[in-house]
Amino acid sequence: MEIDFNGNVLSGKFKPSIERFMHIEIYKNRRNVNAVVHTHPIYSSALAIARESLPVLTE
Ligand SMILES: [Zn+2]
Repeated sequence: MEIDFNGNVLSGKFKPSIERFMHIEIYKNRRNVNAVVHTHPIYSSALAIARESLPVLTE
């Protein structure tokens, strides 16, 4: 899928995520960022729902 900076779909058959605007803002504000990997892993989502922090284990 390809979208423009206004969130409009340019190509592809799937509907973009409602979080596309967050991604667009990252690209607009961080010119050194060329890709964003955004996932919702079950364990980190569970910690977020429980309002628990995720400890940093490696740098
Ligand atoms: Zn998300």
